[in-house]
Amino acid sequence: MTDGSGSSDAFVLGDVAPSDVRVRFSPSPTGNPHVGVIRAALYNWAFARHFGGTFVFRIEDTDVSRDTEESYEAMLDAMRWLGLHWDEGPDVGGPHAPYRQSLRRDIYADVAAKLLDTGNAYHCYCTPEELDERRQAARAAGKPSGYDGRCRTLSSDQVAAYQAEGRQPVLRLRMPDTAITFTDLVRGEITVDANNLFDYVLVRANGHPLYPLVNPVDDALMGITHVLRGEDLLSSTPRQLVLHEVLRDIGVADGPLPRYAHLPLVTGEGNRKLAKRDPESSLQLYRDRGFLPEGLLNYLALLGWSIGEDREVFSLEEMAEAFDVTRVNSNAARFDLRKAEAINGVWLRKLSVDDLAERMVPHLQAAGLLPDPVTTEALELIKAATPLVQERMTVLDESVGMLGFLFAGDTVDIDPASAAKVLTPEAKPVLEAARAALDQVEPWSTEAIEAALRAALVDGLGLKPKHAFGPVRVAVTGRRVSPPLFESLELLGRQRTLARIDAAVHVVPA
Ligand code: GLU
Ligand code: ZN
Repeated sequence: MTDGSGSSDAFVLGDVAPSDVRVRFSPSPTGNPHVGVIRAALYNWAFARHFGGTFVFRIEDTDVSRDTEESYEAMLDAMRWLGLHWDEGPDVGGPHAPYRQSLRRDIYADVAAKLLDTGNAYHCYCTPEELDERRQAARAAGKPSGYDGRCRTLSSDQVAAYQAEGRQPVLRLRMPDTAITFTDLVRGEITVDANNLFDYVLVRANGHPLYPLVNPVDDALMGITHVLRGEDLLSSTPRQLVLHEVLRDIGVADGPLPRYAHLPLVTGEGNRKLAKRDPESSLQLYRDRGFLPEGLLNYLALLGWSIGEDREVFSLEEMAEAFDVTRVNSNAARFDLRKAEAINGVWLRKLSVDDLAERMVPHLQAAGLLPDPVTTEALELIKAATPLVQERMTVLDESVGMLGFLFAGDTVDIDPASAAKVLTPEAKPVLEAARAALDQVEPWSTEAIEAALRAALVDGLGLKPKHAFGPVRVAVTGRRVSPPLFESLELLGRQRTLARIDAAVHVVPA
């Protein structure tokens, strides 16, 4: 937390006291949480914590055709998993409850009625066909093709005639005929020409309130001071600012207008926008691969912001301390999976052995390697194996491939490519010599195993270590890449080690 005295903090705050800062994360619950949406949640969280303000979580579920309860639950679950705690919102409540827009319909109806009564909004009776026809004519004439304002000044006779026809009107906001200028905290001053601002629809003919109404109304009623959101919403900001002013004029809300910061697009392969339907946009994918919340958030923070030159690894607390929205880059940010994994690997190596072991358990369970609930014995084995893999993993799901051999019995599935490459006819005498040495070694410890295998294979058979230990590794772990061999054999135990070598001797081609 800071007192807001830094120069850009002062600029960002304007007249708002640091502790009065209120930001919101307001996703629509459609589909799986998207990494770009989570980045927005993170930036809002960091912004609130930086100033010691309030982080509001609001669910924008007014689109009955697209919103789902599963997605709502997934959104909450994602935020809990990430550890992005919200001060007001679902579950925790708050002074502006409810925080689900589907439960706020009366509020929107009331505001819509006030907008109509005060003449700031009006009923439009144009049918979609009529609108389309006029739009095409305008286009053909090279004129702006948005709504032409036809119903702004209907006479009562015209209204009566439309009503007699059974037409149901939509509600439109009366926009000023002037350009609108505002300062985006990332992009600087933005001006939108009056020709690009049309009287837009707030409420559908069936009475359904739309995003252009409910989003700014809730921002106004919930006292949101700063809006940090994706660049895709930039074009709605001038219209929303107009509505914000109207809401203050007619006494629905008070307080300063929110200030806006539009965050850069997140792109994927080929610099395309990472769309919701792209699998790599889904947070779930990263959870399944075994990203740590710490690692994923650290990476997402870098999509448009940096804590300083040459510094890529930092905690949430450090981010909150340093976060400065004016230093967010306006250029698109590419999601780089390799880099994300590398950063996750750094976080994974920082964990204590016990913590890492416990985090691997669900992945090993999902792969069917461990019982659920995990037994004390299995957990002890995982803890003993954890130091062997901690330096070699970047995501938790790799533990399945690396540690699977510990949970197999007297035989292990051998990766066919590894078998083809390593379990060749020349491997047979190597495996036999290894077996004989391991049968006798005492005690069954890493050091004694290593000494015995070196004596038998390197000194005895005159093999290079790679050729000496490769066949043993594949025979016992099933893979060419495994945790360190001698430690692995110790953990596995003599009986299973010998049984697996015997099994491999039988499959080696003559
Ligand atoms: N509910 C909107 C969306 O998910 C976000 C609205 C906003 O941040 O202004 O696209
Ligand atoms: Zn009309």
